[in-house]
Amino acid sequence: MTDNRKFVSEIVPPEVRSESAWWFVFQESKLLVEKGPSGVNLPYLIHITELGLAPLREHYLGRLDHRPCYAVEVAEGTIPPAGMAFDGLRQVYGRLDEDLFWIAARAVQIIDWDRTHQFCGRCGVPLRAKTAERVKECPQCGLLHFPRLAPAIIVLVERGNELLLARSRHFIPGMYSVLAGFVEPGESLEEAVVREVKEEVGIEIKDIKYFGSQPWPFPHSLMIGFTATYASREISLNDEEIEDAGWFTIDKLPRIPGKISIARKLIDGFLAKQESVHED
Ligand SMILES: [Zn+2]
Repeated sequence: MTDNRKFVSEIVPPEVRSESAWWFVFQESKLLVEKGPSGVNLPYLIHITELGLAPLREHYLGRLDHRPCYAVEVAEGTIPPAGMAFDGLRQVYGRLDEDLFWIAARAVQIIDWDRTHQFCGRCGVPLRAKTAERVKECPQCGLLHFPRLAPAIIVLVERGNELLLARSRHFIPGMYSVLAGFVEPGESLEEAVVREVKEEVGIEIKDIKYFGSQPWPFPHSLMIGFTATYASREISLNDEEIEDAGWFTIDKLPRIPGKISIARKLIDGFLAKQESVHED
């Protein structure tokens, strides 16, 4: 879903620092951006210390169009350089170049993993980063600590010319979306889709088809999208998280998620299919 076509992930940084690089600078989960007249940009420098910033940690990410990319974290309370600000990733979406945005979504997860995996969870000794792989190893027991990823399914259920949308208590007022939930240990993605739909709205589905996937860095999910067809039963809300759900036609849609999300791509896919049916 996200086309980092021009981005090549790498682990081992260039030996000599002589070329300008993109710098993804985080303070907690906020990204340092330079405010421009028509959006925001990122620092593009040989080293971030040129801006007077002192990184707590630094990770080489790879190259975008052959240009090196680095993720760094700066201390809480660091004052942004003149003309710059620390902004949340959601606020940055649509204002920053899309390729840079999705690299920022990687960067924030790698920084978070590094910050939260300093010690072995089994024996408590400091971990050692491997040089050729994105993993930390315990020097005492050998346990490997990879960056965390939580797979979650997201599914658009259709019934003729209607789609199923539901409203979580945590959504902004009036907004509805397709159903989503985390995959449980031991479960296949398809089993997770069937279970989530049944748990959240009580219906049975069929024809589960893969749609696409999207990293979701809030904080470390991987969304795996599916479409499915309604099979049987009436909607019944059993999950306290869901406060309303219903069948909607495309001419009477409620407020739906923004273009950043795979939820919106699923809904847009359904709209495009319905519109082509109308034209025939
Ligand atoms: Zn250990």
